[in-house]
Amino acid sequence: MSCVEIKASVCPLDCPDTCSLSVSVEAGRVVEVRGSDTNPYTSGTVCKKVTRYYPHFVHGEGRLTHPLLRTGPRGSGEYQRIGWAQALDRVHRGFTQAMAEHGPQTVLPLNYAGPHGQLAMASMDRRFFHRLGATLLDRGPLCGAVRGTAYRSLFGDSPGLPPDQVTLADLIIVWGNNVTTSNLHLARMIKAARARGAKLVVVDAKRTKIADQADLFVQPRPGTDVVLALAMAAEFEQRGLLDHSFLEQWATGLDPYLAQARQYTLAQAAAECRLGADIIEHFIALYGSAQRVAMSLGNGLERGRWGGSALRAAMALQALTGNLGRPGAGVTAMPGAIFPKTPERLQRPDLIPHGTRMFNIVDVAGHLLDPELDPPVQVLFIYNHNPLCTHPDQNRLRRALTREDLFIVGSDVVMTDSMTYADIILPAASHFEHGDLYAAYGQHYLQRSEAVIPLQGEALPNTEIFRRLAARFGFTEPLFQATDPELMDDALNPDDARLGGKRPSQLPIDTALPLNTASGEPPLICGTVAPATPSGRVELYSDALESRYGCGVPRYGASTATHPFVLISPSSFERTNSTFGGHPANLGPSTVEMHPTDAAGLEIETGHRVILKNARGEVRLEARVSDAVQPGVLYSAKGTWLATSDNGQTVNALIPADLKTDIADGACYHETFVDVQRI
Ligand code: SF4
Repeated sequence: MSCVEIKASVCPLDCPDTCSLSVSVEAGRVVEVRGSDTNPYTSGTVCKKVTRYYPHFVHGEGRLTHPLLRTGPRGSGEYQRIGWAQALDRVHRGFTQAMAEHGPQTVLPLNYAGPHGQLAMASMDRRFFHRLGATLLDRGPLCGAVRGTAYRSLFGDSPGLPPDQVTLADLIIVWGNNVTTSNLHLARMIKAARARGAKLVVVDAKRTKIADQADLFVQPRPGTDVVLALAMAAEFEQRGLLDHSFLEQWATGLDPYLAQARQYTLAQAAAECRLGADIIEHFIALYGSAQRVAMSLGNGLERGRWGGSALRAAMALQALTGNLGRPGAGVTAMPGAIFPKTPERLQRPDLIPHGTRMFNIVDVAGHLLDPELDPPVQVLFIYNHNPLCTHPDQNRLRRALTREDLFIVGSDVVMTDSMTYADIILPAASHFEHGDLYAAYGQHYLQRSEAVIPLQGEALPNTEIFRRLAARFGFTEPLFQATDPELMDDALNPDDARLGGKRPSQLPIDTALPLNTASGEPPLICGTVAPATPSGRVELYSDALESRYGCGVPRYGASTATHPFVLISPSSFERTNSTFGGHPANLGPSTVEMHPTDAAGLEIETGHRVILKNARGEVRLEARVSDAVQPGVLYSAKGTWLATSDNGQTVNALIPADLKTDIADGACYHETFVDVQRI
């Protein structure tokens, strides 16, 4: 008779919350996943997708448990089982043949942030590719870099407001962040603050669940948020709502900033954003009368052409009104900057040969299809990533992956749409099968986990896969033999006093370690920590962004709409990016929401099949008629797998890859214009 054991773990998914988990294990299998109290911030609650889908993810029919060799056409999913020795030999042969002709930069790793553990995400793999001399990949432009660059331009690398500080605010602004879907525990903080009388304003292109609960919902047309924020800044000045003593002490660049803001009146903002003037007035009144404003900004804003400017303009409102440096006042972005990470020790960028080229991840398909590229990419290694379901311009990427002269190695936990294009698949262990260290990007608790079940089949942790590859390639330096505990100790500065003298690999797994400032206070920019900018102040005008992008202050230009509807594709309640997209419950037809006025004009009702199309692709979805979006705006959740579609295309087929954001060269997911018609 087997018994159920309860074991501690941590959620590794690409989500700011990084919940502590309680895992029920029976006969070496995960049978239930729940939240645990180990992490006080997540405190026993986890999202439904993890409880519903994780056991199937680890043990379901799609799980990869043995190395595989492709036997059918690309994308067919036809493979035969091979051994590890044969798989490593085949990878070695594929690499060395291409490198003999074109040099090491012919190899391109294509990975993103499937698992967020320090080891699984970026450790031995980076050492391997750096030592090899492979082409480098700039991953941030796919998601996160625009927001991070905007934040750093104002505040430097200083950590933002810890999310539990939100409970102390008397006004909370949630801007472009669907918290109940992708920042669940912030919703609890907001609820606690509101129980004490705090007001809530939600700014979003879609009326989300948290918007329904707000004191004020502001719904700008996608991509126009920067106009709203600049016009508000100008209005704050006119109405005497600027905090001049704070600005004098803590800010630079006020004059050029206000000169730019004065270009936008409230009337212009109302027209451009398609908002009622009374809504903006109400927003200003709430903001102006609050004593402690906490602002949470999600990744929604960064996906428009002027996304970086929008983020900077929204965050700058907090500096202009002096809502920084006090408990409950600040911007909740980047609280994870509090961790003493040491990527130079963990990933060893010193191994990168001088002059190695770097590609923007958004441009990978274009490079793969470029006949002039010198040297060409002849080897692609896809891991921690499902690019076919997450990259813009899906059809172009599919054409690239179909190149028969391209040698593709894949590694993942489950058979994804992208894996079906690989020549060799190396089975990766789930995070339940190995230990890891978690420095969250959305809260300040450091956590360590250990394996809760044995390795499944012949699957291996990412660290061991790349250790074996390094050995097969003859990399004999000790850094390629580092054990997982040694890698953990390389991930963080072990001399940081906040670790209490423990090495990272020795941290207890039944406790989450809160990291505050060196003196034990919560990080409050312009209070307990100074902005880590060149001037040591909040830089409302950025020299760096001016010289690189011409965006010293936030800028705006109206979009050129090529089709009548703009499509946004934010996070799904059922998936974390594309993870869990292969669960049987997620393989039904995907839906698109449209406003009743638009639906009536096209004789579309809920349940009708519709086609969304533009020059890049054509997607068939099920209509949902809803006033949660404005007229002219369509909403369809991101991360669906190809099996949800009857023509092998998902909304990513419609998204442009060549258009980039104003700063950080990010993907413009929400700059997608389409036609709609009923089937
Ligand atoms: S996906 Fe996010 S909310 Fe869900 S369990 Fe993981 S960390 Fe928690």
